[in-house]
Amino acid sequence: MRRRRVIVPFFISHQGCPHACVFCDQQRISGESGSLPASDEIRDKIAAYRASAGETTVEVAFYGGSFTMLPLHQQRGLLAPLQPLRDAGQVSTIRLSTRPDALGPAVMALLREFRVSLVELGVQSMDDAVLAGAGRGHTAADTTRAFSVLGDAGIAAGGQLMPGLPGDSPNGALSSLHRLLAHNPACLRIYPTVVVAGTELAARFRRGEYLPLTLGDAVALGARLLHKALLAQVPVIRMGLQATDLLSGPHGVIAGPYHPAFRQLVESELCYDLLRRLTAGATGAVTVRAHPSRLSDAIGHQGSNRNRLGKEGIVLERLIPDVTVAPHDLAVSFSGITRKGNIMTDLHYPETEAHHG
Ligand code: SF4
Repeated sequence: MRRRRVIVPFFISHQGCPHACVFCDQQRISGESGSLPASDEIRDKIAAYRASAGETTVEVAFYGGSFTMLPLHQQRGLLAPLQPLRDAGQVSTIRLSTRPDALGPAVMALLREFRVSLVELGVQSMDDAVLAGAGRGHTAADTTRAFSVLGDAGIAAGGQLMPGLPGDSPNGALSSLHRLLAHNPACLRIYPTVVVAGTELAARFRRGEYLPLTLGDAVALGARLLHKALLAQVPVIRMGLQATDLLSGPHGVIAGPYHPAFRQLVESELCYDLLRRLTAGATGAVTVRAHPSRLSDAIGHQGSNRNRLGKEGIVLERLIPDVTVAPHDLAVSFSGITRKGNIMTDLHYPETEAHHG
């Protein structure tokens, strides 16, 4: 039986970061603020997760902020308590996130010494003009260098992208992903840009200088980005910001494609595109078979795919869970005809033109 992955998260908020990215309000985005956890707090939290999950081994992740921009002694203070737990087999991996330009020699020596397994880079875009407009303070070349130094150190590297930053476009986001995939990232996170209250982006939005992606455009673009990553066999471990009370509240997101089920909207979009293709020319009622894990994506969020296809004259009469259908496949039957398609190989999006579902 496959073991369940248990991740013990630690949120490192804005501390240590001298930058002011236009979209960033670390406290609201991570949902936590305050001081760094002390050694005993780290150990206690890991012990609590192990006990409640009934697992002997857990993974540790430091999210948010820019871990490697903390003073070295603070980085040590966070990583050192994990080492005996790693030796005892209680912690299997350590991951953290940081900026692409924050991996100098002293930091790299520390990450190697404390056996960090994976570093997620806040790439955001591979277009220098977009990075400058977002106040990131690093370039695409910094990302290329970061992948290279991490690779040389034997540390896996992942990347985070933010489609929809000022000056970005759907084609620009696709091109950024294309350039990022060339570095063989271990994983990806895709966070369409949203406008959080109190940020520089919010001021620009209020002045009419910045217009975020609509939810529909972000979902359509997200589907193309996810499809591209699937074809490259790079896992997309998150799409869209995690819903928190702060983000959902009146002082959280004020504009932009924020949706608590953003990933499902994107997966549903891929299913819609495939169903449309498979049902071309269909008349009468259509039966869809999907792997149980894919059924809700096939139906669409709140039945959206059924409704959209219905407006095009395609009546999805029955949706049947079927374990013999692979998770990336869908099968349709109508009028004695059966067709099967695969989300990866049977969807073909143009390389550059924006797609609107
Ligand atoms: S580098 Fe990270 S923590 Fe610093 S302002 Fe930018 S997004 Fe926020």
